[in-house]
Amino acid sequence: MTTRILVTGGAGFIGSHYVRTLLGPDGPGDVALTVLDKLTYAGNPANLDAVRAHPGFRFVQGDICDPATVRALMAEHDQVVHFAAESHVDRSIDGGDTFVHTNVLGTHTLVAAAHQAGVDTFVQISTDEVYGSIDEGSWPETHPLRPSSPYSSAKASGDLVALSYHHTHGLDVRVTRCSNNYGHHHFPEKAIPLFITHLMDGRQIPLYGDGGNVRDWLHIDDHVQGIELVRTRGRAGEVYNIGGGTELSNRELTELLLAEFGADWDTSVLPVADRKGHDRRYSVDCTKIREELGYAPRVPFAQGLADTVRWYRENRAWWEPLKARAAL
Ligand code: NAD
Repeated sequence: MTTRILVTGGAGFIGSHYVRTLLGPDGPGDVALTVLDKLTYAGNPANLDAVRAHPGFRFVQGDICDPATVRALMAEHDQVVHFAAESHVDRSIDGGDTFVHTNVLGTHTLVAAAHQAGVDTFVQISTDEVYGSIDEGSWPETHPLRPSSPYSSAKASGDLVALSYHHTHGLDVRVTRCSNNYGHHHFPEKAIPLFITHLMDGRQIPLYGDGGNVRDWLHIDDHVQGIELVRTRGRAGEVYNIGGGTELSNRELTELLLAEFGADWDTSVLPVADRKGHDRRYSVDCTKIREELGYAPRVPFAQGLADTVRWYRENRAWWEPLKARAAL
């Protein structure tokens, strides 16, 4: 039997990769996907070109905060995978309104409609940033939420709202909290695609503060693998961390990218003032998803990064207009 999945934010970076993967040759084959996306600056219809003609694909332009749109769609679906969000920390520092609106109110609109429609499973895609910053060790899912930015606090609020529909109404809500994703089709305001495309054009890359902030990097293929394990075999009301197993300081990441381009530090790196409230280190403990669902990241970082650099080299027509429009 075909499972009808409503994918919110499916025109963005990770959501579109999820859709292309599930409807691709290695997908499960028993799914039909509807993308609900507002097409904000981060949503790009071109990300879905590869699946547009697939019989199991449908696109609806709409807002997750609009109850009428959401209720009508929810009645036609068995499951929800909820990616839609305002996702850029720097933008949330400039102004948090849309972050709270979309990431909190939008999530509530979705779970309330999912409960009303009797949806089977609701997967909330969240972030490791909800835990805050950690100097040593790694967070298990039980770690208290201590988000620092308007972005991460709105994501944490969305998680709690979604989980409350499990506790209160018995809705099968599953939350995934992943580390920093990288890969192709990544909007060029984010560090890796910004650095790659700047280096391609011989521009200096801006490095925050002392470059010592540490992130764990997760390839989008591995993220999709983790989401699918949680959607198909995870448990109701549970949170699952998803990591890539490659922790790097921004300085180390910058050095790897400079090496890809044969560029040197002194001419190509521009130190800039640190981000306000910048979390020092994120680190997820992935024991739960590994032991319970058999998750293991498969893409070695060196290979994933080289593939990503190649994709940006070969797809200037995709990113150049986005950078021009966003004045990056
Ligand atoms: P993205 O910014 O690339 O895409 C977000 C998508 O949501 C866009 O297509 C946008 O048009 C859509 N959208 C925004 N507001 C909407 C609304 N009100 N109604 C309908 N659609 C709306 O984001 P991404 O990087 O693909 O992230 C997807 C999810 O994964 C987010 O929930 C984010 O918090 C989470 N996440 C991302 C990362 C990462 O490294 N990119 C890491 C951890 C978690």
